[in-house]
Amino acid sequence: MILVVGGAGYIGSHLVKELVETEEVIVLDNLSTGHREAVDQRAVFVKGDLGDKEDLDMIFSSYPIKAVMHFAAYSLVGESVVEPAKYYQNNVAATLTLLQTMMKYKVKNFIFSSTAATYGIPDVEIIDETTVTSPINPYGRSKLMIEQILADFRNAYGLNYVVLRYFNAAGAHGSGEIGESHNPETHLIPIVLQQLLGTREKIAVFGSDYDTHDGTCIRDYIHVTDLANAHIRALEALLTGKKSAEVYNLGNGLGYSVKEVIETCEKVTGLKANVEMADRRAGDPARLVASSEKIFGELGWKAERNLEQIIATAWEWHQNQKF
Ligand code: UDP
Repeated sequence: MILVVGGAGYIGSHLVKELVETEEVIVLDNLSTGHREAVDQRAVFVKGDLGDKEDLDMIFSSYPIKAVMHFAAYSLVGESVVEPAKYYQNNVAATLTLLQTMMKYKVKNFIFSSTAATYGIPDVEIIDETTVTSPINPYGRSKLMIEQILADFRNAYGLNYVVLRYFNAAGAHGSGEIGESHNPETHLIPIVLQQLLGTREKIAVFGSDYDTHDGTCIRDYIHVTDLANAHIRALEALLTGKKSAEVYNLGNGLGYSVKEVIETCEKVTGLKANVEMADRRAGDPARLVASSEKIFGELGWKAERNLEQIIATAWEWHQNQKF
């Protein structure tokens, strides 16, 4: 059985939907930001906290867990600057409790959701896993701290792990049953689509004076189902002993500016967006684009869905949002 911590959240719930096809799955989620309805009914669901030893003891003593996948983190850069304690408490301290409990029950396989924010402001066009990590906010630091803890646990206790550094997750499940649902929403694609649906008056573009071809920030958008599939490859590699300590980027390898994303949303939906230029948002690097060559070479994974497909599935979801 696979324990998915944070399996009711946006990315976790998409992973669970794929994973239940081949594995028994138990989800632990405190529903602070996740949705119970997002969890596939074939998974066992436990409402609880990853930092709560009693919840963890109950799960590890009751179920034969062979691997843990960890999605239960706070992930807003701006919030992490204002409330670092919240980020270090949950993303670091609670995760450490989870890892210690895994060691106690001799569960040695772990897949960790990390982030492009570990790179800070990279001085390369395309980021690969050898690019220096130098996070510029508490969110990125909290993730990098766990990456370092994992390496130490590997040396001391024989933990096997794969770290997946996500670039910009977006899109929704092809079934239309689950998709992105944050409150408040801060991410670009859902914000644009909400404006096109009329539930938002305008879209503010955060900065148009960056050193990019059109002055707006460039990001690498990756479909959430592609992300989920990468986790399944990583899990197979851990469970078959093919990998024991590895870090991989997950992106498309293509950068799109904020303006290009908005234009693509207009093209996919056939609607015209109401856009205004605004000040830069604190903590935003100008450009974050991944090389995912390493995971392609080693595990055969690559992103299969392009920006139009990402937006089309998200549009389907937002028009008929279930939660
Ligand atoms: N962005 C924007 N307006 C918005 C939301 C986001 O201009 O209302 C920009 C943001 O500054 C960044 C890009 O869109 O350059 C992607 O932001 P998002 O919050 O989706 O993801 P992040 O890159 O912060 O993880």
